[in-house]
Amino acid sequence: MLATRSFKGGLHPPELKNTADKSIVDLPVPDKVILHVSQHIGAPAKPLYKITDKVDCGQVIAEPGGFVSSRIHATISGKIIGSGNFMHPFGVPSPAIVIERNPEATEPTYEEENGFNLNIEEIKTRIQDAGLVGLGGATFPTHVKLSPPETKPIDTVILNGVECEPALTSDHRLMLELPDKIISGLKLIMKVLNAKRGIIGIENNKIDAIELMAKKVEGEENIEVQPLQVKYPQGGEKQLIVAAIGKEVPSGGLPMDVGVVVQNVATAAAVADAVNCRKPLLERVVTLAGNCVKNPGNYRVRIGTTVAEFIKMAGGLKEDVPPVKVIMGGPMMGFALFDLNIPIIKGTSGILVWDKDEAKTMEQAACIRCGRCIRACPMKLLPQQLKKLVDAKKWEQADKMGILDCMECGCCAYTCPSALPLIQTFKMGKKLVMAERKKAPKK
Ligand code: SF4
Ligand code: SF4
Repeated sequence: MLATRSFKGGLHPPELKNTADKSIVDLPVPDKVILHVSQHIGAPAKPLYKITDKVDCGQVIAEPGGFVSSRIHATISGKIIGSGNFMHPFGVPSPAIVIERNPEATEPTYEEENGFNLNIEEIKTRIQDAGLVGLGGATFPTHVKLSPPETKPIDTVILNGVECEPALTSDHRLMLELPDKIISGLKLIMKVLNAKRGIIGIENNKIDAIELMAKKVEGEENIEVQPLQVKYPQGGEKQLIVAAIGKEVPSGGLPMDVGVVVQNVATAAAVADAVNCRKPLLERVVTLAGNCVKNPGNYRVRIGTTVAEFIKMAGGLKEDVPPVKVIMGGPMMGFALFDLNIPIIKGTSGILVWDKDEAKTMEQAACIRCGRCIRACPMKLLPQQLKKLVDAKKWEQADKMGILDCMECGCCAYTCPSALPLIQTFKMGKKLVMAERKKAPKK
């Protein structure tokens, strides 16, 4: 095993990982699911059915709307009872299909075979057919990530088992409970990309997972486990690549520019299911945590289950601890929910229900030019100056200063003593800079 490594910048928020010892629990099949056609980066999927149609669990209900898009499957058997705009976790109404469960229906079964014997195109087709996207939260369609142009050969696949976001432990549990499946997925990904080397990057606060995964790859000549320093955002693709193999992805570039593809460990497990069992992405493991939750833990839940139903099936909330904030994802990169009738989507790694102590926020004040945000930024940006440019609508200058390299990790906002809304500013600023770029005449 290699020595611990890391990257420059970043910070150490409290870990809050008190569900790390909670084994994954399978939740019951919900009575209703809301399946958004946009659960991935790229074009929305196109619905294939209408209200009153009957569908079986695992059936494709929306086809990809382009190459960078993904299939959506029915995650329960039943009848379509709604279609149209429903609130999306991102806070905007967006097209979705609603299915009501048929309690008489039987659950699908999937036979296992050795998918490693398939040829590369067959493996990729099974991954695409299963509707796989990056389960770490990025939701980039997996088949697209596994199709780099011929000019960008891939020599290394890095599996991301870092899970650096505070409070989340679902990837940790997957590594402890399904290590063979994750390694099978890694081997399939390496075969597709013709990659010579596989690395599993895990932060040093998961010693049990590091030891188990290292034992599982003992004797594999081209796969190793890389322990990493505990630091946020160690799991960012660019930070992980620097830490694991010492290569720096150029500004505006992609991991494939340095011969690397990064996939999350949960995605690797789903690749194994898709290829070896032809199982579509119907469910995922979600961490449920926070002081308000009765049974914090890790739960395998059908995609499309509403957050309210998910919490209820997992045991509900404590009566005497009123919730003040509900977050989908982790506290650094997740987003606050204002409606619990929105569904778990493919990229949902956690639901946090916080009381007033956990949600304590400081009052916003003026920038005191302390420079903490600059020291914390893992992308070597100048957040304080970028904010000034965005506030002044100076898009060209913000672009030149690298706003599009901002990975929205939240390190700057976390460390800012003035509690300035830096991430919100950069999210909006990036969109507007992109719009300005599109308007500009082509040179
Ligand atoms: S949110 Fe953007 S600007 Fe702030 S620390 Fe992260 S990468 Fe840097
Ligand atoms: S951390 Fe906040 S207060 Fe300090 S320089 Fe950055 S924006 Fe200003």
